[in-house]
Amino acid sequence: MGFSLSAEAMNRALAALGAEYTVYAPKVFEEGANFSGLDLVRYGKISAIEEVVFDKKSVNSCKEAFYPPSETLFYFTENAVKESAIPLKKPLVFVRSCDIHALKRLDDVLIENGAPDYFYERIRKNACFVLMPCKTVFDSCFCVDMKTNTTDDYDMSVEWDGACYRVNCKAGHLCSIFKNHAENEIEVNVPFVSQTKVHVMISNEITNTAAMLPLWDEYDGRCINCGRCTFGCPSCTCWTMQDMFYTENGKAGERRRVWASCMVDGFTDLAGGGSYRKKNGERMRFKVLHKIYNHKKRFGRTMCVGCGRCDDVCPEYISFSNTINTLSAAAGHSRAKGCL
Ligand code: SF4
Ligand code: SF4
Repeated sequence: MGFSLSAEAMNRALAALGAEYTVYAPKVFEEGANFSGLDLVRYGKISAIEEVVFDKKSVNSCKEAFYPPSETLFYFTENAVKESAIPLKKPLVFVRSCDIHALKRLDDVLIENGAPDYFYERIRKNACFVLMPCKTVFDSCFCVDMKTNTTDDYDMSVEWDGACYRVNCKAGHLCSIFKNHAENEIEVNVPFVSQTKVHVMISNEITNTAAMLPLWDEYDGRCINCGRCTFGCPSCTCWTMQDMFYTENGKAGERRRVWASCMVDGFTDLAGGGSYRKKNGERMRFKVLHKIYNHKKRFGRTMCVGCGRCDDVCPEYISFSNTINTLSAAAGHSRAKGCL
């Protein structure tokens, strides 16, 4: 069902949704950027539609709304363990088409890959997603080549046409709320982008043996293993554990899981002092092949959805799309020479 709503009507509908949902969307954090004086667009709670930033790409992805960077799993004392409470309200999250495709990748790893991750699933299964159709592409996007530029897997969509908000509701419980507040019922054809400025070609010649190519050595010097490319990525899932102690004897506290990254020091540390992939080029190799080869081999789709966020945030201007194309060319060349 399609509706048109003024800003005032949208805000009344959002207020009605607020009884059941916490609404997350890309919004402006004033002077929140790394460079002083600059604003940052990232996900946060919103209470008015005017807060939603439709025309800029958020630095972090939507996953922090339902898979937080730091999450308490349980509390412990000497004699008892108590599971953390599930958030009282369900998340309702404004997302782009590529983000919806990235949700599938998170689900692949955290729900479909063996026993489901209990703490992820308990929030994820209650989440609703609001599509924000992209009217233009951003400079670093390559969603069309990754086939993530379109989707019909959303609960509702919202777009601003310059005069009103156009809402397309698919989920029945959301339809009834918007029907109550809408000025008009209309037909909504959700637009999608069909061209990007950046293109990638993932060669069929890329296999496990691409790990042996010399191109990875270049990243020993270029990458500074800051991990920004993975923390901003909508399809990265890795986490580690952190215990917070309330008492000096360590017998009362809480266990948290926090995001981790295959690009940063310590990720592969083992008991006894061992460590794998110490060189930055080896980490880059692992990340790239995981994103475009290994995940596809296991789940039938690439892990990367072409959102371009890793390119946007890398302080060393390392481009993931360039790396894919360089790897494809090198794999094809090496195969032709019989080196792989
Ligand atoms: S473009 Fe980069 S940030 Fe986006 S899904 Fe692919 S690897 Fe992740
Ligand atoms: S953001 Fe760039 S420099 Fe930082 S870890 Fe990723 S590739 Fe390396």
